[in-house]
Amino acid sequence: MAYKIPLFNLNFDEREAKAAYDTIKSGWISTGPKNAELEQMFIDMWKVKYAVSMSNCTDALHVCCMVCGFGPGDEVIVPSLTFAASVNCIRYVGATPVFADIIGPDHINMDPADLERKITPKTKGIVIVHMAGFPARMDEIMAIAKKHNLKVVEDACHGPLSEYKGKKLGTIGDCAAFSFFSNKNISTGEGGMFITNNEEMEKQARLIRSHGMSTMSYQRASGHATEYDITCLGYNFRMDDIRAAIAIEQLKKLPGDLETRIKVRKQYIDRLSKIEGVVVPFAENTEFVSNYIFPVVLLNSNKERRNKIREYIHVAGIQTSVHYPAVHHFSTYKELGAVLPKTDYVTDNEITLPMYAALTSEQIDFICNTLEKAIKEIK
Ligand SMILES: *Cc1c(COP(=O)(O)O)cnc(C)c1O
Repeated sequence: MAYKIPLFNLNFDEREAKAAYDTIKSGWISTGPKNAELEQMFIDMWKVKYAVSMSNCTDALHVCCMVCGFGPGDEVIVPSLTFAASVNCIRYVGATPVFADIIGPDHINMDPADLERKITPKTKGIVIVHMAGFPARMDEIMAIAKKHNLKVVEDACHGPLSEYKGKKLGTIGDCAAFSFFSNKNISTGEGGMFITNNEEMEKQARLIRSHGMSTMSYQRASGHATEYDITCLGYNFRMDDIRAAIAIEQLKKLPGDLETRIKVRKQYIDRLSKIEGVVVPFAENTEFVSNYIFPVVLLNSNKERRNKIREYIHVAGIQTSVHYPAVHHFSTYKELGAVLPKTDYVTDNEITLPMYAALTSEQIDFICNTLEKAIKEIK
């Protein structure tokens, strides 16, 4: 069925269509000048030294784990309240994920205290996720990482241009990954970005992206190089120039889009703060953030009631989602036997409400009124 109010809407217009068309007409569609331009935009906008475009964020996370040197016998600590890719990347390199709990319904990112409890002599790193684009407690996390000599990967998929104490998310740890999947803040269908301030990591990432080849075909086609070496075991993690051209247009729109999302969030919070039995995570955050999604958590509730409330909202024509079904309960992760009570509560009681710049105040009122009625009627 078509929802009256979808969860997300694609912020595309003639500009993306023209960018794709122009790139097709240019005669160069694989990784080339548009990717270079997009990487430079990330460097400028994030104030980071290096950016390497990737086919998607999952591959960018895989590269992060490779350049951090995680491998067999190593443990890497990660939240469970995330998309499976944040955890799968640890296993791609043969390392073992160890789950840390979140702080609670008010702050659904990793709890630094639980992170510290999960450290063993085998721990080599941390994969941090900034849920909904809200920063994890990076000061505490980086201090723990420094104390125990751990590498920090930021899965910053939700937080393009989000800030933590004046720094952009993705520039605080050792390296970071962004996604341009259709429903992310920057949409190209598929696509991603790896960023770092570490020159050695950038060099490795660029090699891994393209088979470990010492030169790229665009360089060879433009006469700068004729030969190549295969210097390491690489992959094909490249993004094509058609998508990079679309990403450039999306990135130009992003600051304005995020400003509007801030207003949407403010209206949601003003309205929801008057409703009992529901909490908005990170409600007290005052930093600039991406507002990728709008999660709420029901209080004194349970999974069965949450599902009934979602169904009630769905019948009213409003699409919702759950971010996320906790990774430690999936079949392939169950055997790790993680015990994460705060994550369990939030995964069972969270509802993600629609969030995008084009949401009108009438629509936000309608969503909040429907949620309020559902909370009152469904015990
Ligand atoms: C979307 C997402 C990913 C995966 O991104 P892709 O570009 O689809 O590979 C990884 N981590 C998080 C937190 C995500 O939301």
